[in-house]
Amino acid sequence: MPDAAHPLNLTGHALSPGAQRSWWLREALDHEDARPCPPLAADAKADVVVVGGGFSGLWTAYFLTERDPNLGVVVLEQDICGGGPSGRNGGFASGWWDELHGLITLYGRDEAVKACRAISSSITALGEFCKRHDIDAWFRRGGYMYAITAGAHEKLCEDMVTLARDAGAADELRELTAAEVKARCSSPAFRGGAFMRDGASVQPARLIRGLRRVLLERGVVIHEGTQVTRLDGSTAVTPAGRVRAQHAVLGVNAWGVGWPQLNQRLVAWSSYIVLTAPAPGRIKEIGWTGGELISDFRTSLRYFRTTPDGRIAFGGGGGRARRTIDAMFTNDMRAVKETAEGFRLMFPSFADVPIEDGWGGPIDVSATHLPTFGRLGLGNVYYAAGYTGNGVAPTHLAGQAIADLITGADTDAVRLPMVNARPPRFPPEPLRSWGAAVVRRAMIAKETAEERGREPGFLVSQLARTPRRMGYLLGPD
Ligand SMILES: Cc1cc2nc3c(=O)[nH]c(=O)nc-3n(C[C@H](O)[C@H](O)[C@H](O)COP(=O)(O)OP(=O)(O)OC[C@H]3O[C@@H](n4cnc5c(N)ncnc54)[C@H](O)[C@@H]3O)c2cc1C
Repeated sequence: MPDAAHPLNLTGHALSPGAQRSWWLREALDHEDARPCPPLAADAKADVVVVGGGFSGLWTAYFLTERDPNLGVVVLEQDICGGGPSGRNGGFASGWWDELHGLITLYGRDEAVKACRAISSSITALGEFCKRHDIDAWFRRGGYMYAITAGAHEKLCEDMVTLARDAGAADELRELTAAEVKARCSSPAFRGGAFMRDGASVQPARLIRGLRRVLLERGVVIHEGTQVTRLDGSTAVTPAGRVRAQHAVLGVNAWGVGWPQLNQRLVAWSSYIVLTAPAPGRIKEIGWTGGELISDFRTSLRYFRTTPDGRIAFGGGGGRARRTIDAMFTNDMRAVKETAEGFRLMFPSFADVPIEDGWGGPIDVSATHLPTFGRLGLGNVYYAAGYTGNGVAPTHLAGQAIADLITGADTDAVRLPMVNARPPRFPPEPLRSWGAAVVRRAMIAKETAEERGREPGFLVSQLARTPRRMGYLLGPD
């Protein structure tokens, strides 16, 4: 608990988490010798204009250059590349075997397995990309451990493992006894769990900044500090000029709630991460030396991983839903405190290890908990959205699929089930963000009560189940 005895100790930035760059991004910028790319200053032309300099936008630009090095590609980013969630996330490049239920419901078993295999290939490809381009993004394939922290999660775990086995993927996801969980990472909160083979940790900001460097070397034009106010067909309009292009790509993630093309597909939720001081000895003491990504089973997921210098980055557990992307996504001290509380609860043996940093960002929640990517309507505008907090590996696949659609390449990527899928829509505003905020708090209250061995109240339980009752693949059954 961050109380008087265990202060948060956010060195230097205590009152304003996220007003500064995330710790990842500051660390990455400290190790590079790059200046910001100049903002767009006049009208320009391109074959493809990409809005958003996160993983979706930059992977799309990368695969466009792979398919046709002569294409003129312009990326427009309102901040700097990686200033958004791509440089702020937990760095979990994780498989989709835990998403089988949703994938099978939406696309059937064979297509679901195909999608999972494609994500696995993307995780491998991230490691290969770093090696090929000499990017030290701390890529480490230690797998993903799910830890049960409440009785209510035992059945979720069992069902998840059974589904993978029935889909012929028993090797990908298997159950762990409490002792096996403890051997990988010992916490008094863990009762048992499961292990997914597909999972790698990365330093996300080093990855996105490395990708940016590769694109600049390939002649992609990047304008940072350039906000696109609208698309006019496939022309991107900014206050300083327009980029006329044959094709446009919207890679704006949670900012999609402000774009008419995307807003009914998304709800924006915040997620926060806290980072400890280096404590490699303590990490060894709890046996967490395999580099596993770890999370619990909550809808308001808690996720944690280690760093090469022996820190723990611990995310989730709080957060709120909002109508627009505002300061609540980066400056919410309550969310930082809730996240820190989750960490102290799970790792009491780290009670005297200070938490040195905290930051947050927006997540683009879709009604299916899964992203879709492809073409918007009949025009030349493409998009990727709805990652729901799981975009590090999927954005790589989205970039390939969009680049292949634009260049007309007939590849496996364009035949994936989430390409040009039609996701269900959320209700219109103001119902959407108001409802999402209420339901989000109810989910957190329900899961916190369950974890503490208490019965959640009737109203809280009912509210937390609302999304499922509306046919969405979100939250508890
Ligand atoms: C705290 C946190 C932890 C997370 N942890 C994980 C994790 O461990 N694993 C995982 O897989 N996923 C995680 N995610 C989700 C993951 O970060 C995203 O799914 C992924 O980064 C999406 O990439 P993107 O390029 O679509 O979006 P972003 O990285 O958000 O990029 C979109 C970019 O568009 C820019 N933009 C928006 N509007 C405009 C405009 N009008 N004009 C110009 N530019 C614009 C933004 O500034 C931003 O840089 C996490 C997210 C958060 C917030």
